[in-house]
Amino acid sequence: MPNVTVLDHPLLRHKLALLRDKTTTTAVFRQVAREISLLMAYEVTRDLPLETKQIETPLETMQAEHLAGKKLCIVSILRAGNGILEGMLDLIPSARVGHIGLYRDHATLRPAEYYLKLPNDIDERLVILVDPMLATGNSAVAAATRLKQAGVKAIKFVCLLAAPEGVATLTAAHPDIQVFAAAIDRALDCNGYIRPGLGDAGDRFYGTR
Ligand code: URA
Repeated sequence: MPNVTVLDHPLLRHKLALLRDKTTTTAVFRQVAREISLLMAYEVTRDLPLETKQIETPLETMQAEHLAGKKLCIVSILRAGNGILEGMLDLIPSARVGHIGLYRDHATLRPAEYYLKLPNDIDERLVILVDPMLATGNSAVAAATRLKQAGVKAIKFVCLLAAPEGVATLTAAHPDIQVFAAAIDRALDCNGYIRPGLGDAGDRFYGTR
């Protein structure tokens, strides 16, 4: 899968095991997910373009490297995406943030949009689209399609766990999108859960079950 990168640093693997463990409390789950997201943001942004600007150190003038251009927008797919947004913002505090809310329409069984708020200049930014679980891939495909309609030209998709089915669906619909995951699990079950997975990410972030 050429467009898919599994970020398998030992720290990420260890922290992911904590998230998967059903005895992990909501508070610890949130904290560990934040740490994982920060580490993932570091890897996902490693090819950002740089430009040099002249600065004065206390000792002399130098050409110092800075991030080039309009930089980033992180777009969270509600609601679980917000759980990994914070860790990304810890590392990239000046990033703009967008939100997209999707629900499953019972008539069409397709994702339908109920909320969208994006920065006005999103078409000039690299978008990091975040959702902790890439399960069927339908929400990710719909969110990416909507972002492209808004003029976005470059998207990276970041999740904690992916199912092979979700990766196949997203990369088939949007072959230009790079997918980053901390792990690709065995499969989706008949209820749409990733196995072995970590359960319902939204419920585990917010203690709603
Ligand atoms: N969404 C979740 O929160 N968990 C899954 O396993 C699949 C989709």
